[in-house]
Amino acid sequence: MREIGHFIGGKQVKGASGRTADVFQPMTGEVIGKVALASKAELRAAVENAKAAQPAWAATNLQRRARVMFKFLELVQRDYDALADLLCREHGKTIADAKGDIQRGVEVVEFACGIPHLMKGEFTDGAGPGIDLYSMRQPLGVVAGITPFNFPAMIPMWKFAPAIACGNAFILKPSERDPGVPMRLAELMIEAGLPAGILNVVNGDKEAVDAILDDPDIRAVGFVGSSAIAEYVYTRGTANGKRVQAFGGAKNHMIVMPDADMDQVVDALMGAGYGSAGERCMAIAVAVPVGKKTADNLVDRLIPRVESLKIGPSTAADADFGPLVTKQHLEKVRNYVELGIKEGAKLKVDGRGFKMQGYENGFYMGGCLFDEVKPEMRIYKEEIFGPVLSVVRAKDYKEALDLPSKHEYGNGVAIFTRDGDAARDFAAKVDVGMVGINFAIPVPLAYHTFGGWKRSFFGDLNQHGPDSVRFYTKTKTITARWPSGIKDGAEFVIPTMK
Ligand code: NAD
Repeated sequence: MREIGHFIGGKQVKGASGRTADVFQPMTGEVIGKVALASKAELRAAVENAKAAQPAWAATNLQRRARVMFKFLELVQRDYDALADLLCREHGKTIADAKGDIQRGVEVVEFACGIPHLMKGEFTDGAGPGIDLYSMRQPLGVVAGITPFNFPAMIPMWKFAPAIACGNAFILKPSERDPGVPMRLAELMIEAGLPAGILNVVNGDKEAVDAILDDPDIRAVGFVGSSAIAEYVYTRGTANGKRVQAFGGAKNHMIVMPDADMDQVVDALMGAGYGSAGERCMAIAVAVPVGKKTADNLVDRLIPRVESLKIGPSTAADADFGPLVTKQHLEKVRNYVELGIKEGAKLKVDGRGFKMQGYENGFYMGGCLFDEVKPEMRIYKEEIFGPVLSVVRAKDYKEALDLPSKHEYGNGVAIFTRDGDAARDFAAKVDVGMVGINFAIPVPLAYHTFGGWKRSFFGDLNQHGPDSVRFYTKTKTITARWPSGIKDGAEFVIPTMK
């Protein structure tokens, strides 16, 4: 049995709290490890370490900091297969999808390699007589990231790569459900030349999270997870004077206009609805066909595709998706299907009975498809986070536009159409943070920013892209006047540029 402690001061350390959590292998249902759950004192030890190491790292020139990132990229390439294997065993997603998880993280590390350019300040020459005005970006000090189970490589990299490149020291509190990959990433950062203490991984649960939110030396917290916890983290963190960005849950819609290419639509819905067993914050959970003809056609085409989904163990090369993350989560998703039936939605494909031969204790279920889901149903309002797609029929474009706009979540949304006018109008008007046009999972690339709206995000600055540099730095502005520009005598009036 693997024992997973913490990574503090550049090395693995054993947990000292006496509390642990089981780490499962979802494809077999076995417990494959025990992860330590940190106490407040252990979190504090990591912060002390980070605090001591940070000034020298901030003083390290930008190109050297970038070189650590470049080297880290090489090491991730070297260990890609092993990382993907570890990831799929703890999470349950397929090996191909695990590689995608790593790759989307790598892209943000590549972005962070540009830190000498990204940290450049602004300069105004001759703002007045002999006066220069300039601004610089400085790191915050010790910052933290709290991440969810569903992207155990990507989201930790989204958080620590920009923060560390900016000159901060980082405390990562990954999900206790799949901590193996974040621990390996920290080791690789040290192997890449990062000084000890700059990236620390503290495993844990609510106790560690609360210790982060209350620690006076942690200046900023980047959180990703469910909305209730995101709101809690935002409220408690900001009350303690921290800068907080807290990304929450989602219920992403895909609008299908009558003129859309239906082959593309069905392929897109299959991938975005059922990929990774629906455990993605950008998964499509709701399909909104516009008009009866579109809806009937869509449902008729979806049924055989959902029935023939290939579910397999995470290591199977040909599986469309693997098991869910835990037995508890599997039960939750099954209960939502039961609830949908009670609420009156039409269950067209029922995947609840699926059993994976040879893996009977794994956390599997087949794809489910609901038709005639109504906005007042809980299966529409709440995030299910499983392989369950709901069809909500809209009579016209206006009704389709209103559905995602009025939903409490606002992470991603997509419209499939050939009509440029409709697409343009939709992108401008929909009350959602990330929009795809004939693109089902519009996760922006690393050099743009990622963030939802409404209950999908609490905070101001998005993750990755230019916002990540703004989030992990503070701006200092300097007004300098040289002796040749100074007139004799005291000035009692506020300086102006009359
Ligand atoms: P979660 O909210 O259960 O856990 C997220 C983090 O919070 C973990 O590190 C966990 O240890 C910690 N945590 C859990 N309960 C806590 C509590 N009571 N107090 C303090 N901390 C606590 O989320 P999850 O199940 O790991 O991840 C899935 C969720 O994350 C989904 O809702 C999904 O939509 C969301 N998500 C959002 C984004 C985004 O960018 N918006 C991206 C990925 C996932």
